Amino acid sequence: MGSYLRPTELGDALAALGTSAATARAPRAILAGGTDFYPARVGRAIDEDILDITALPLGGIDDRGDHWRIGALATWSELIAAKLPPCFDALKLAAREVGGVQIQNAGTIAGNLCNASPAADGVPPLLAMNAEVELASAAGERRVALGAFITGNRQTARRADELLTSIRIPKPAPGTASTFLKLGARRYLVISIVMVAATIEPDERHQVLRARIAVGACAPVARRLASLESALIGQPIDAGLATLVAPEQLRQALAPIDDVRGSAHYRDDAALTLVRRALAELGARMGANQ
Ligand SMILES: Cc1cc2nc3c(=O)[nH]c(=O)nc-3n(C[C@H](O)[C@H](O)[C@H](O)COP(=O)(O)OP(=O)(O)OC[C@H]3O[C@@H](n4cnc5c(N)ncnc54)[C@H](O)[C@@H]3O)c2cc1C
Repeated sequence: MGSYLRPTELGDALAALGTSAATARAPRAILAGGTDFYPARVGRAIDEDILDITALPLGGIDDRGDHWRIGALATWSELIAAKLPPCFDALKLAAREVGGVQIQNAGTIAGNLCNASPAADGVPPLLAMNAEVELASAAGERRVALGAFITGNRQTARRADELLTSIRIPKPAPGTASTFLKLGARRYLVISIVMVAATIEPDERHQVLRARIAVGACAPVARRLASLESALIGQPIDAGLATLVAPEQLRQALAPIDDVRGSAHYRDDAALTLVRRALAELGARMGANQ
C-alpha cells in the first residue's frame, strides 16, 4: 500500500498533490465519497498514494451574490435537502436518481464530475446551468467551464497537482427554471441510456431569453444542443416549445453511440422523445407560473 494522507488544511492537500506530481511516482489518487473510487479498484490491491479530502473545509452550498458555489465535498443528499431556486430543479432531479440513498449520502457532486463517466447524471444539469469548476494547486487557482473540463470518457482537464475545490454556477435571469429526465433500463438504481437537462431563462415578456439543453450518455462527453438553443430564443414559453425540436438536427448534433445499454438508433429515438418531453413539461410549468 502507498501512503495515505487525510489533511485538514487545503494548503497541506495542495502541497501533497504538488510533491507527488513533481516525482516519477504515479500521481496521488484523490478520494472523496469513494463511490466511484472503490468500485474502480475491485479485485486489486490499492497500492497508490492516496489523498483523502474528506476532512478539508470544502463543504456547503452557498449563495455568493452573483453566483452559487457548491463545495467539493457537498453530497447529493445535501443538495436534495438544500433550499434552492427553481434553476436548480434539474440538478435536484438528477440527484434523486444517483444510485440509492446510501450512494447519495456518500457521493459528492464534484466526484461525479471528476470521474467523468459518459453516464454521469450530474453533468447535463450543470452544463445546462453554465457551470464552471474551480481548480486549485500550490501554484494558484483557475476556473474552467464545465464543457471544457470534461475532455473525454473518464478524462478531464485537471492537472495531477490540482484539486477541484468548488463548482460555480452563475445566477441566471429571474424566473429561470430547469428540468431533467433520465432513461435507464429500469426506473431506479440504473445507469443512464440517455438523459436530458433543460434550463430556460425568461425575459420580461415571458419569451425565451436564453435556453441551455444538454444531453448525456449518448457520446463520451455530454453535449449541448446549440442550434436548438438558438431556435428557442424569442419563443413564447409554453408547452409548444417542444414542437421546435427538429429530429434531423438533433441526430446530427448527438451522433449517438452503440453500446450494451442501447443502439445508436434507439438512443436517437429516445433522445428526441426526452428533449421534446423536457421542453413540453418545462414550458407548460413556466407558462402556468407566469
Ligand atoms: C451502486 C452505485 C450506483 C451509482 N449510481 C449512479 C447513478 O445513478 N448516476 C451517476 O451519475 N453516478 C452513479 N454512481 C457513481 C457515483 O456514486 C457518483 O459519480 C458520485 O457522485 C461520485 O462521488 P464520490 O464523492 O463518491 O467520488 P469518489 O469515488 O471519491 O471519486 C471519483 C473520482 O473523482 C476524483 N475526485 C473526487 N473528488 C475530487 C476533487 N474534489 N478533485 C479532484 N478529483 C476528485 C477521484 O480521484 C476519483 O477519480 C453510482 C455508484 C455506485 C457505487
